Amino acid sequence: MTQALSVLQHTFGYPAFRGKQQAIIETLARGDDALVLMPTGGGKSLCYQIPSLIRPGCGIVVSPLIALMQDQVDTLRQLGVRAAYLNSTLDSRDAWLTEQQLLQGELDLLYVAPERLLTERFLSLLGQVTPALFAIDEAHCVSQWGHDFRPEYRQLSVLHERWPNVPRIALTATADRNTRDDIAERLGLSDAEHFVTSFDRPNIRYRIMEKQKPKDQLLAFIRSHPKEAGIVYCASRKRVEDTAEWLRTQGIAALHYHAGLDIKTRTLHQQKFLRDDGIVMVATIAFGMGIDKPDVRFVAHLDLPKSIEGYYQETGRAGRDGEPSEALLLYGMQDVMLQREIMANSDLPEAQRQLERQKLDAMLGLCESTTCRRQHLLGYFGENSQPCGNCDNCLTPPETWDATEAAQKALSCIYRSGQRFGAGHVTDILLGKSTEKVAQHQHEKLSTFGIGQDLPEASWRAVFRQLLAGGWIDSDPAQYGALHLTERAKPLLKGDVRLTLRKASAKAKKAASDSGFRFRDEAEAMLWDALRRRRKQLAEAQGIPPYMIFGDTTLRHMLDRRPETLEDMRNLFGVGDSKLARYGQAFIDEIEQHHAQYGRPVAMKPVINESSELSIAEVKSGRSAVAVANSRGLSAETVYNHLCAGIAAGMIDVSTATQLDPETLNRIETVLVSADEDMRLKPAFDALDGEFSYGLLRCVKTGMLQK
Ligand code: ADP
Ligand code: ZN
Repeated sequence: MTQALSVLQHTFGYPAFRGKQQAIIETLARGDDALVLMPTGGGKSLCYQIPSLIRPGCGIVVSPLIALMQDQVDTLRQLGVRAAYLNSTLDSRDAWLTEQQLLQGELDLLYVAPERLLTERFLSLLGQVTPALFAIDEAHCVSQWGHDFRPEYRQLSVLHERWPNVPRIALTATADRNTRDDIAERLGLSDAEHFVTSFDRPNIRYRIMEKQKPKDQLLAFIRSHPKEAGIVYCASRKRVEDTAEWLRTQGIAALHYHAGLDIKTRTLHQQKFLRDDGIVMVATIAFGMGIDKPDVRFVAHLDLPKSIEGYYQETGRAGRDGEPSEALLLYGMQDVMLQREIMANSDLPEAQRQLERQKLDAMLGLCESTTCRRQHLLGYFGENSQPCGNCDNCLTPPETWDATEAAQKALSCIYRSGQRFGAGHVTDILLGKSTEKVAQHQHEKLSTFGIGQDLPEASWRAVFRQLLAGGWIDSDPAQYGALHLTERAKPLLKGDVRLTLRKASAKAKKAASDSGFRFRDEAEAMLWDALRRRRKQLAEAQGIPPYMIFGDTTLRHMLDRRPETLEDMRNLFGVGDSKLARYGQAFIDEIEQHHAQYGRPVAMKPVINESSELSIAEVKSGRSAVAVANSRGLSAETVYNHLCAGIAAGMIDVSTATQLDPETLNRIETVLVSADEDMRLKPAFDALDGEFSYGLLRCVKTGMLQK
C-alpha cells in the first residue's frame, strides 16, 4: 500500500481517494507544483493535508478565511494531526506558543492568514524550519477577475523566490477560465500541473418551481427534511426576519442572519447553526462565505438569484459531505420584474449593467428550461454532460405545449391596450372580465377582449412570465410594471417563429420530495436519534460542532452495520485511528444498549466493501456508472461489479443502478432469457449488437436472479 493511501485510511478513515486526489498528492509528494480546480465539497483539503503529513516538515496553508481556520484545525486535531493556525484572532502569547511549536518541529500543518505570512518576522521564522509545502487556498483571491480580490495574494510569489524547492499547490472552487489563467500567471505556476475536475455536484438535487404560495411551498419542503440543517435565502433583511419568524410559529427551529444584525447576534446564530442539529438558517447571501458545515442538507431560494454563478455558489453550500441534498428555487413573474427594476435603477456604468442583465437573463433561462437543470448549469460553465436523472426536469419531465397562439394573443393584447398595463390587467382583458379598470378604459371594446377564455388564469400568468423571462416583452418599473413589446416580439407576432412553453403544472405545488434516506423502521429511527444525541454530547463537552466527531455518513454506516467491536468499528467510513480510540467505544455502547432494548435486526445487510459502497452511494445520488468510474479513476467494469454486489444485497435496485428506462430494461431482460437458456452474457451481448456493456448486462441479470 502506498504511504498516501495508508494515511488516508488510518488518519482520515476513508477507504479510497476521490477523483484526482491521488494524482495531486503524488505530484506534491515528489516535489512538483499543482494547480487544483475542484468544486466545493470535492475534497481539496486532503490534497495538501496528506502530502504535508508525508513530506518532512510542516505544511504551510495560506487562507484568507480566518473564520474557517479554527474549524479546519479542530477537525485535524480530532484526527490526531498536529495542526495550528496563526491569525489576528490569537493573542500574542498564543501566537508565540504556536511559533515555538513550529520551530520545535511539533506541527504537521500550520494555517496562516496572508498578511501574517508576508511579515518579515514570519518569513524569517520560516527560514529556520523546513516547510513541507505551501498550499494557497482560495487561490482566486489573487485575481481581479475573481469575486474577492485580495491584494496581499499578489505578493505570495515571494514564497517561490525564497523557497524554490518547496512544492506549491494552489486551490480554488472558481470555475471560470479567466480566473484560472490569472492564478497560474500571478502565482508563477506555469510549470505546475493543472488538475481540473468537473464542477458537477451530483449529490445535489436541483428543483426550480413556480412561486405559488411561497410560504406553504417552503414549509412543505422543510418538513420533507425533518431534523436536518438547511439554509433559506431571501433577498432582503426584512424578508429574512419575517420568514424566520413565521417558520418559528410553524414549529421549525429557524434562525435569521443578515448583515444588519449586530455582530454578537450574528456570531451566536452562526454558532448555533454549526453546533445544534437541524437548524434552518434564514439569511441573505451575506451568510455562507465562511461556513464549512458539511451536513447542510438543503438550500432554498425564496427570491431569484442574480446570476447562475450566484445560484451555483449558494446551492453549493448543501451537501459538502457528498450525501444526498436538495436545492429548491421558487420564482415568479414578480421576481423577474423586481430584479430588472433594481438593475434599471442602479447607477452602474452602462457596460456593467448590460453584463448584469445578461447574467440575469441566463439565470431566467435556467428557470424556464424544460431539459436537465444540471446539464444547463454545467453547460453555462462550459462543461458538457448527459441528462443527470437527479433534477426536477429529469425526474418529472415537464409537459410542454405549443404556446405560439397564446403568446400572439398576449402580445397583441398588450399592444392594443397601449402598452401601459401590467400582466394582471392584460389577463383580465384576455379573459373578458368586466372589472372596474376594464370599464374605466373601455377595454371591453378591444378586439382582444375575451379572446383568451380558452386558457385558465394560471396559464396566462405562466405565459406572461415566460414571455418576460425570454425577453419578448419587458416591464417598465417607472409605470408600475407596465408591459411593452420588445424587438424580439415581431417575428413571434408574425408567426415566423414558434414558441414552446412549459405547462403550468398542478403537480408543481408539491415541493416536498422523497430524496434523502429513510429508515427501515421505527427502531432504526430511534437508534439514529440516539447516535446523534451521543455525538452532540461528545461535541458539546469539547465545544466543537457535532460533525467533527463523526459525519452523518459514518453514523449511517453504524445503522447499517451495527458494529459490536472496535474492530468492526474500524472498518467504517470516516473512522480513523484517532477517532476510533476516542469515540469508538462510546458509539458501540450506544448501539449495544439499543440492541438490548429493541433487539438486533435479523436481516442485516450483507457486508459490502467500502469501495463498492462508495460507488453504490454515488450512483444512488444520480450519477451514471460511467461517470462514477471516471471520477474515481476506476474502470466501468469495476463499478458495475460494485453495483452488482449492491443489487444482490438489496442496497440498490436495477433501474437506479443502470439508469435504464423500464422499456429498455424490459427489452434487455427478454433478450437475456431468450438468447441463452443459462442466461450467459455473451449471447445476449451479441444479440443486442453490443449496444450495452457486459457490466450493465450483468447488473440486469443479477436483478433478475433476485426476483
Ligand atoms: P472542499 O475543500 O473541496 O470544499 P473538503 O476538503 O472540505 O472539500 O472535503 C469535503 C468533504 O469530503 C470533507 O468532509 C472531507 O473529509 C470529505 N472527503 C474528502 N476526500 C475524501 C475521500 N477520498 N473519501 C471520503 N471523503 C472524503
Ligand atoms: Zn437532470
